[in-house]
Amino acid sequence: MKKIFKTVLLLLFLNGYSQNTVPEKPLELYLLIGQSNMAGRGALDNQSQLPSEVILMLDKNNDWIPAKDPMHFDKPSAGVGPGISFAQTMLEGKNGVKIGLIPCAWGGSPIKVWKSGAKYFNNFPYDEAISRTKIAMQKGVLKGILWHQGESDNDAVKSQVYLEKLKELVASLRKDLNAPNLPFVAGEIGRFNKEDYINKIINTIPNEIENSAAVSSEGLTDKGDHLHFDSPSARELGKRYAVAMQQLLKETPSLKTSKKKPKVVLTFDDAEISHYNNVAPLLKKYGFGATFFVCEFPFKKPEEKKEYMTWNQIQELYKQDFEIGNHTGHHKNVTKLSPEDINKEIAYVEEKCAEFKIPKPISFAYPGNRYDTISQGILKKRGYKYARAGGSTLYDIAEDSRLAIPSYTVASTDKLEVRVKTALQNLKQGDIIVLTFHGVPDVVHPDYSTSVEFLEELLQYIKEKDFQVVAMRNILTE
Ligand SMILES: [Zn+2]
Repeated sequence: MKKIFKTVLLLLFLNGYSQNTVPEKPLELYLLIGQSNMAGRGALDNQSQLPSEVILMLDKNNDWIPAKDPMHFDKPSAGVGPGISFAQTMLEGKNGVKIGLIPCAWGGSPIKVWKSGAKYFNNFPYDEAISRTKIAMQKGVLKGILWHQGESDNDAVKSQVYLEKLKELVASLRKDLNAPNLPFVAGEIGRFNKEDYINKIINTIPNEIENSAAVSSEGLTDKGDHLHFDSPSARELGKRYAVAMQQLLKETPSLKTSKKKPKVVLTFDDAEISHYNNVAPLLKKYGFGATFFVCEFPFKKPEEKKEYMTWNQIQELYKQDFEIGNHTGHHKNVTKLSPEDINKEIAYVEEKCAEFKIPKPISFAYPGNRYDTISQGILKKRGYKYARAGGSTLYDIAEDSRLAIPSYTVASTDKLEVRVKTALQNLKQGDIIVLTFHGVPDVVHPDYSTSVEFLEELLQYIKEKDFQVVAMRNILTE
């Protein structure tokens, strides 16, 4: 044994490059698609000629080489684009990471040629992007897509179908690359373009496409043609892409999620006094986090008041590290309210939180689990990350909107007890289930009451199975 050890040491010594025996970390891959401003049309300068060892690009022949401008080969006019400054910004403060860029943009290409089988001059932009990305994935992990396109569709007619086509494109890319939740960032076209149809659409995508972001082109300048960014602007655009991508990656569950233990999100609605008296102590005993979605009920009888928490008690829960979520000021069905009133109802809880030094909520639960696209849009604008609905299904991160996360309602009726126990028993690796409780027990709404015994039975089961338990705010990040 000793001898073998010595031999290994000697070999390492003789080799002199022991670090070469360590397998290289996979590249972090980004696909760059769109038209000329993604390909880059900025004038080449000295900065373009400083390749870095940690930023590679897949060249025309599908070989990895140090990235430098022009990265694209769509036209002889290819120049400085956003790709390299994007990668540089992504790498700031990171060691041991290498980025692999996959340039696949085609100058002048309209969105209609970005689909399988569609030809653009002598190329098939979509199909070639997929096949080059798959080649790249032999050496790395695909982390995201950068899209800059729209100049060719920036008119009254073509822009009408743009969003539809863009949604189809993102869905196809994610499907064909087997990456259902792949971050997608689109940039505004230059504001120096004469017409302004596309940017309005680009800015709706965070609401329209899961796990996507839009990047502003404010203040960026053209190279004199009212069409293409100059080099400093192309580089600034790349930085903005990186900031948006970093934010999306933070919120994107890692690709390993499917191998993780099942996750249970515990939520308790309506600020019932039993949450303070019974639930919080029980959760502490098990060491579980949870979200309390609070509101103020209009009381039917004055004696009902004692069935609900005071704001001081809600503040106590926050101090015990539980998440305080927003359930509207007065438990209003948001689908029946004007946008103005929805805003008022949401703001009410935010203001109460501010008064009691509780952080502004980032999670919301729709009263009665009723929601629509208007309420979702308002929540998004107000900075909410997650909103809970009903539906009794698991949370499918690829399919379900983060602003309509399904949940199982729990109560101590035979039917609901069986349903939630069955759901917990059937959880597989990577599954996420959200449970909605009301009072434990619930004096005012006996139909929604859960007994302390049943809650404890569930917590005990969750503990035994070693499921991960988180508050709503950590549904994707823990
Ligand atoms: Zn409620």
